[in-house]
Amino acid sequence: MGIHDHDASLLNHETEIEGFCNYYFYDPKCGSSWTDVSLAMLNHYHVNEHHWQHWFFYSAAGDGRCYEMPKEAVLEMLADWAGEVYLDETKGAVWHWDGYHAKMKLHPHTEQFISDLLKEHSDW
Ligand SMILES: [Zn+2]
Repeated sequence: MGIHDHDASLLNHETEIEGFCNYYFYDPKCGSSWTDVSLAMLNHYHVNEHHWQHWFFYSAAGDGRCYEMPKEAVLEMLADWAGEVYLDETKGAVWHWDGYHAKMKLHPHTEQFISDLLKEHSDW
């Protein structure tokens, strides 16, 4: 997976097609429940490296480990966040980072890379 097939699993994986139908298209005929949507998200994170959740391992002991994201995956994630501006002009990558950063589980190198990029590109 990479930028050339960004989010392809949304269209070619049955769990995601069914789960995200109502979530993305606001179509009550889809009947997606929160369980369907969360299962679709879980699948999406597992098969797409550009989500930070892909790089976080939650162990049976209840602790977690963050792995460093490849820079290409980070850039794809930031492009995803930057695209939020097309849904709402007040949003974007910096908005996403400011709003959700504290709850993200990130490797320190990944966190620093993102922070440095968004300081340099405050218009993203
Ligand atoms: Zn995605």
